[in-house]
Amino acid sequence: MVNKKKWTIEDSENLYRVNRWGAGYFEIGQNGNLNITPDPSNKDIRIDFKTVIEEIKEEGIQFPVVVRFHDILRSQVALLNETFRKTVKEADYKGQYMGVYPIKVNQMREVVEEIVDAGSPFNYGLEAGSKAELLTVMAYNTNEESLTVLNGYKDKEFMRLALLGNKLGRKFIVVIEKYSELLLLVKTSKELGITPMIGVRSKMTVKGRGKWEGSGGDRAKFGLTIAEIISAARYLKENGMAECLTLLHFHIGSQLTDIRAVKEAITEGAMIYADLYNMGFKLNYVDVGGGLGIDYDGSKSTSDSSRNYSMDEYVADIVFGMKQVCDLENVPHPTLVSESGRAITAHHSCVVTQVVGEIKAYSMGIDTAPVDDEHFLLTNMRELSIEIDKQNNLQEIFNDASQFKEQGLTAFKLRVVSLEELGMIETLYWQIMVKLQKRLKEIDFVPDEMKELDYDLSSQYLCNFSVFQSAADTWAIDQVLPVIPLTRMDEKPTVNCSLVDITCDSDGKLDQFVSEHGIADIIPMHELIPGEDYYLGLFLTGAYQDVMGDMHNLFGRLNEVHIFSYDDDPEDFYIEEVVKGSSVEDVLSIMQYNPGAMAQSVKRMIDGHVSKGQLNPREGVKWTDFYENCLKGYTYLKTTD
Ligand SMILES: *Cc1c(COP(=O)(O)O)cnc(C)c1O
Repeated sequence: MVNKKKWTIEDSENLYRVNRWGAGYFEIGQNGNLNITPDPSNKDIRIDFKTVIEEIKEEGIQFPVVVRFHDILRSQVALLNETFRKTVKEADYKGQYMGVYPIKVNQMREVVEEIVDAGSPFNYGLEAGSKAELLTVMAYNTNEESLTVLNGYKDKEFMRLALLGNKLGRKFIVVIEKYSELLLLVKTSKELGITPMIGVRSKMTVKGRGKWEGSGGDRAKFGLTIAEIISAARYLKENGMAECLTLLHFHIGSQLTDIRAVKEAITEGAMIYADLYNMGFKLNYVDVGGGLGIDYDGSKSTSDSSRNYSMDEYVADIVFGMKQVCDLENVPHPTLVSESGRAITAHHSCVVTQVVGEIKAYSMGIDTAPVDDEHFLLTNMRELSIEIDKQNNLQEIFNDASQFKEQGLTAFKLRVVSLEELGMIETLYWQIMVKLQKRLKEIDFVPDEMKELDYDLSSQYLCNFSVFQSAADTWAIDQVLPVIPLTRMDEKPTVNCSLVDITCDSDGKLDQFVSEHGIADIIPMHELIPGEDYYLGLFLTGAYQDVMGDMHNLFGRLNEVHIFSYDDDPEDFYIEEVVKGSSVEDVLSIMQYNPGAMAQSVKRMIDGHVSKGQLNPREGVKWTDFYENCLKGYTYLKTTD
């Protein structure tokens, strides 16, 4: 019955579904290593992830590491803009597309700079949702043609900064999220004598489906009701500022899983735009917000970690949907703005970690040879462990074994089974479960309680990283992120496991995996080879995960390597930059400690022992240096000496 067929990379593809979530950027190579093709239209450039790992090691950079592929970021910026341009042409749409990147999705300077640079041929702009973000986009959106859209709640200082942008000839659009902001903006602009560009965010009746559906509907935190929008427009007119109203904005949620929500929102938004236009408010822009989803689990479905549409369909629904309503209502086609963040950044970064240990469900047994006067529960369990090889009623064996184990524990508490006997009962129980698990593969119908066996007998691979720092959404909102081995995918993975991190928190784990039959609680990985590093990649971490992590257990930010592809290089890439992660000193300082004073305090203790003759002076100096070096070091496990 044993399947002797050699394991192939196609088998790994079926298991890990790289093509399904990889969007053309990731592929399993012939040698079993993960390959990266940062420009899917040019497959000649192909980076072997193993060579990236080797180079990281050669440079002496400690794992875990965030690896950023800048070319993927550039490819996504181009793809979104080109898709809009192509569709605008196809639809004979008379307006253009002027997208903005919302920096909250990933505010890393290098990411923002790369997006601005890649977006410059398209006049791709930036979006900010807070004062700190506004200060950032002011300095980094240097393209005068592109838009800067300002969302989020605002105070007077915010308004003055935005107006400064207008004064400097930049297209800064202040989007009004609540009515009082309009009064503040009008007042401030009059005081400064600067004409603003104003947008209004509409509270939409349509709700996005998925985790962020609260961004739409009557209870949405943001936006104006229809009555408020009309009042706002009239107020501007009364103040002689009707032309300042230039943009209608809506955003019904991130990671929209169902295309129907997009269609409905566009229709609703287009009608509001058309009516405002017909009322004499000649807006130039309609901003459809974010929401373009990512297929994290590769299922192309409306599950929370997926989406039932492609970027092409999403763009087509926006462009054709807007055109249809505008043509019916006889109003001009507005310039289209969108604020996709997740779709731009998710693919470009991943976290690489090593597995530093295996926690087995059942590893160590004790000798189970019969002893004199042993308790009958032990005898029964031993007989069962022999019977299993001949018996065909697996359910009965499972039930009996479970029952004997439970009774054994009760008997132990009543002091009629000794500790040693209990150890033997447990040992036999797990031996029976292992045999059962093997035999279950022979039968078609597996009863529900026995389906749990694979999980119960699975290992936990201990990984050198923190879920709370590097994959916050897997913990907070059950986001599924693909995790795969980066090498050995031409070998059969024989260890069923879930993954746990090195924080002292039982929530620090990954137990939802993209796999052959949808989402699974365990995933097969390769057996660890002593003395050989085994690297896993956690993918699609470029949106939100990169910047939302916290310092649980004082695990700080990761070392980062920024990869650029380069066709003339034999390996097709080079490491352009290394950004050092947090040191222990860094994270302690954030928590208000003074690492210098801590080092002195420890030194005083050591000196005290030296002066009392309890420690020799040379050793004292060594220990002092050691403590100081650890303070300067990385917060994660050091796996090399
Ligand atoms: C968060 C947010 C976005 C980004 O949404 P994505 O789904 O990541 O593209 C865009 N606009 C607004 C107003 C947002 O709050």
